[in-house]
Amino acid sequence: MNFLLTSAAKTFSLTAIAEMSDEQVEELLKSLRWPETEGRPVCPECGCDAVYVLKTRSQYRCKRCGHTFSLTSGTLFHSSKLSLRTILQIGLLWANAAKGKSALEIRRDIGLNHKSSFVILHKLREALFKNRDVTPMTGSVEADGMHVGGAIRHANLAVDRPEQNTKPTPRLCVIALCQRNPAHGGALRTLVRVVETERAAAIIDFVGEHVVQGATVYADEHAGYDRLAAWFDLRRVNHKRGYRGDGGENINLCENLFSRFRRLQFGQIHKVEPRYLEVYANEIAYRIDTCRWDNKRITSDILGKALRTGRSESWRGYWRAKAGPDVGPLQAAA
Ligand SMILES: [Zn+2]
Repeated sequence: MNFLLTSAAKTFSLTAIAEMSDEQVEELLKSLRWPETEGRPVCPECGCDAVYVLKTRSQYRCKRCGHTFSLTSGTLFHSSKLSLRTILQIGLLWANAAKGKSALEIRRDIGLNHKSSFVILHKLREALFKNRDVTPMTGSVEADGMHVGGAIRHANLAVDRPEQNTKPTPRLCVIALCQRNPAHGGALRTLVRVVETERAAAIIDFVGEHVVQGATVYADEHAGYDRLAAWFDLRRVNHKRGYRGDGGENINLCENLFSRFRRLQFGQIHKVEPRYLEVYANEIAYRIDTCRWDNKRITSDILGKALRTGRSESWRGYWRAKAGPDVGPLQAAA
């Protein structure tokens, strides 16, 4: 049975959040921000965990250095006007959206304005990206690439005709590495990188950085993967003959990742800006890696990551600046 249909998948709900007291919401988020002290606030300035609670303002004051802080200060939610309950609701709605959540949906679900919902979703993606597990992969790893962009709109309307619209969106390639879980053959961990073309140098760089030498790497017949045979036990699948090689070789985890990405691209995001491509692909990688987790665990994980990640450089004052973030995650990672 599809995991999402089982009772194990649903351990949390909007109803449950509505029934929580303000104190319970705060306690839950505190346990996610400060897991090492089981939710006891720790001063972000000096690391001291002895604090006064300023009840009227939901703030804390450090007994050692006097610094005043809140549950969200110094995190990705820094200076956000969202209530703690709204943050929890957004985390749950995000966790429940197996194929990704659009800013327009969050806007209607929560009653936010479009800017806030757009920024909050990008901050969650930033939290995922900055907290990726990049431990070198071992065992069996699939590698493949997917092209995104490069299409010119069909010249039906006068404004789309070539003389007025000759600039296609840049064509980029997402390379994915999917480590198989030996227990069930599904995804254990997925890493993605955006490159300009699916060429050998870029592939060797990415695989060499994240996969230990000697591991088994599965790839299709694309020539860019040929040279991996020097460092890895390289197995190929010829897609002209079928989705599986004679020995069962396949890159089905990569295919699954890419087909899910297309659903996000065409169903939710619609227009993928090149500078955000890597964080969108990384979001789908995370969703696949966690597809057997219950929804409370995913909610806790994403909000915990956001609450333990420092203030956003890319999205701070985004709408005041109007020009957009000058350093997107893609550039930062390059
Ligand atoms: Zn302090």
